[in-house]
Amino acid sequence: MGDALQLDNPKQQLQQYYAGQQVESPNGGFLMLLGVRGNGDGSATAIFECNVSSLWYQIIIPKATRTERKKVREVLDVGGDPHCPRHGRSRKLTRAGKDLVCPDCGVAYAKA
Ligand SMILES: [Zn+2]
Repeated sequence: MGDALQLDNPKQQLQQYYAGQQVESPNGGFLMLLGVRGNGDGSATAIFECNVSSLWYQIIIPKATRTERKKVREVLDVGGDPHCPRHGRSRKLTRAGKDLVCPDCGVAYAKA
C-alpha cells in the first residue's frame, strides 16, 4: 500500500466518508474503500481506489480529539455502548486490544 497518492484537500472526502456517502474522486467517479489501517499514533490511513482511473489514493484520518474522547468516555462511564463520534449512531465502537476503535475510521476513541 506504499504507492497510494495523496489528495490535495481531503476535507470534503473525509466528510463524505464519515457521512457514509460515496466519496468523490478527483478524476470524476468515486473512490472505493480498499481498507483502513491504524498508524500507531491514534490516526489511521484509509486507502481508496478510484473507479474511473483505478489510481489509489490515501486519506489520513485524524486521531481522536479531546472532545471526541470525552464524549465516548461519558457514554462508557454510565455503562453505555458508545458509537463513533464521526460516523454516528449506526457505527458502534469495537474493542481492539486495549482500545475502543471505530472499524470504519480505524481511530481509537477510548481505552477499553
Ligand atoms: Zn468512525
